[in-house]
Amino acid sequence: MKDERVEGLTVRVLLVEDEPRVAQFVRRGLREEQFTVDVAQDGEEALFMAETGEYDAMVLDLRLPKRDGIEVLTHLRAHQNKVPVLVLTAKDDLKDKVEALNKGADDYLVKPFKFEELLARLRALLRRQGELYPLVLRAGGLEMDTSKHSVTHAGQMVQLTTREYSVLEFLVRNQGKVVTRTMLSEHVWEHDFDSMSNVIDVLIARLRKKLGGDSGDGLIRTVRGSGYILEGTDEHVDRPGAP
Ligand code: CA
Repeated sequence: MKDERVEGLTVRVLLVEDEPRVAQFVRRGLREEQFTVDVAQDGEEALFMAETGEYDAMVLDLRLPKRDGIEVLTHLRAHQNKVPVLVLTAKDDLKDKVEALNKGADDYLVKPFKFEELLARLRALLRRQGELYPLVLRAGGLEMDTSKHSVTHAGQMVQLTTREYSVLEFLVRNQGKVVTRTMLSEHVWEHDFDSMSNVIDVLIARLRKKLGGDSGDGLIRTVRGSGYILEGTDEHVDRPGAP
């Protein structure tokens, strides 16, 4: 179960939130951080999705239609589902917090919250699960600090735009596998592929240049007719703080 993700697939999050505005805000933010996000709008849908899909983490609002967050948690834990859960609670509701933690939530966040804090808590929660979400990604002389969005190549800082960074992180997380232009356009631009092909090629060319010309060419290879591949190394998974 874990192996697949360590090989570099993106982290999958189930977001359970019935307020469209909040759901959209969190979903967008998480996608920008390279998470894959599914949204459930009520407690029943949440349980169905949690049981059928494989998620690395769940962000769970407590006040939900059909079945509330506490019921969802109780059901999950009663069925041995150990997905890490970050609960969203209403302001100052101590009783809710305590109950959620007692029912098996791993952490909580009080609404209204800053996205930055949600992200930090989610990452901490994923790290506690093992190495599913390494802070530092490495591949072929590249080092990406995912908390700072900073990149070095052969020890040199590389300045990237947000888009370039997203594309590179996606390639690194999927290193050793072909990443198609369709995957890139959906993941990084959230657009259909048709209009994007040229944009992607131009961006990849820029990335290669920034990653040091000749050696950069070798890092991101073109797979004719389908997309790109960043050659994998075995140093992809890094324990934060490890030597
Ligand atoms: Ca709600």
